[in-house]
Amino acid sequence: MKKLISFLPVFAILAFCYYAFQIYTRLSPSTVNGLVFLPYLLALFTLLSAIHFKRSGILFYALLIILFYAVLKYASPLENIISTVLAIILCILLISYTLIPERGIFTQNNLNAFFIFFLILGVAFFTATQAPTWESFLLTEWLPAKYFDWTVLSQTSLIFSSFGFIGLLIVFALRPSPFTASAIGILLLLIIQLHFGKTEKSLLILSSGALLLCLYAVIQESWRMAYLDELTGLPGRRALKEKFNELHGTYSVAMLDVDHFKKFNDTYGHDVGDSVLRMIASKISQVSGGGSAYRYGGEEFSVVFPNKDKQLAKIHLELLREQIASQNFVVNRENRRSKAAKTKLKKKKTVQITISIGLADSIEKKNHTLSSPWEVLKLADKALYRAKKKGRNCISI
Ligand code: GH3
Ligand code: MG
Ligand code: MG
Repeated sequence: MKKLISFLPVFAILAFCYYAFQIYTRLSPSTVNGLVFLPYLLALFTLLSAIHFKRSGILFYALLIILFYAVLKYASPLENIISTVLAIILCILLISYTLIPERGIFTQNNLNAFFIFFLILGVAFFTATQAPTWESFLLTEWLPAKYFDWTVLSQTSLIFSSFGFIGLLIVFALRPSPFTASAIGILLLLIIQLHFGKTEKSLLILSSGALLLCLYAVIQESWRMAYLDELTGLPGRRALKEKFNELHGTYSVAMLDVDHFKKFNDTYGHDVGDSVLRMIASKISQVSGGGSAYRYGGEEFSVVFPNKDKQLAKIHLELLREQIASQNFVVNRENRRSKAAKTKLKKKKTVQITISIGLADSIEKKNHTLSSPWEVLKLADKALYRAKKKGRNCISI
């Protein structure tokens, strides 16, 4: 479901491009004249926001879209070899940028990426203009021509874009993100743009659509940075604060804390501690009863149950506590005594982890509601302290 949601804006922009194609001829010349600047404005916004939010992947997406726009607008005539080379570099670069981790903008790593980007462009330019043997190879008809008479695109372009499309779908299935969803949309829009060639209409609509997808990816990525915790992927304290603004009536708040985690870190190392925190977070995020999980900070988590008092919420937290306590977490234990320090030996080991839980709800003893969720959270924190004192691996209310 979450996967489909990141695709919604992509579908919406594709549908909008289709609609814009339909109504374009009905627009008055003055409107069309006004819209001519739209791709330039969007390109400027996209580049500035990618630089501002330090998103190198999106910067390269935008550069690709600008490259397509410039070549299609100014290459005269637009030879088949040029559009074939564009389709090939589009697929290779889009897949590469979705796989390479974020590198920042003005960093040494990204300078290397810029170098590779311009090297590929150089090779592409040479292939498109100077290398006749490559040209005949790339324009070979691999399959019967009758299946391809609906498009001016070469068979090589279509084969590459199909592989590119499938490749990006696989990346999306493995690591769903709005960033990869946008890449899929950009691939489709730019390949359709190659199909339509140099027409003013397709350049205006499809380039703008692709740049809007970049802006969507920048907005989503900055939202993710602000609201989601980097290590566990759970919503963080800012998201909890917003959830608290929505709460009213009866609700419960739980504070969860990993037991003896300092000792765990000392025994297994901080990296193993991190991976165990990730596994615990994933369990907590699957808590039943409609509870939403947040990383409060460090090895502490909060779970909010709207519309449930603490007796009801306790049933679901008890299940979660038992599930974590009985789970064998598999970790890579680094053998620190290994003499071959460079190739640290890693041994698989299973470990057991427990959590303590403090729980409170918005209903006071005398049956009137507490004034704020922060007060409920404070009570849950006090209850957590009692759970620790009781011997850990238990719930206090
Ligand atoms: P208690 O059962 O009383 O909660 O004991 P504790 O050791 O868990 O409690 P304490 O608050 O003293 O220590 C919390 C530890 O959690 C300290 C810190 O090293 C570890 N920790 C906090 N955040 C992270 C993190 O992001 N990654 C890792 N690996 N460890 C973390
Ligand atoms: Mg703690
Ligand atoms: Mg702890």
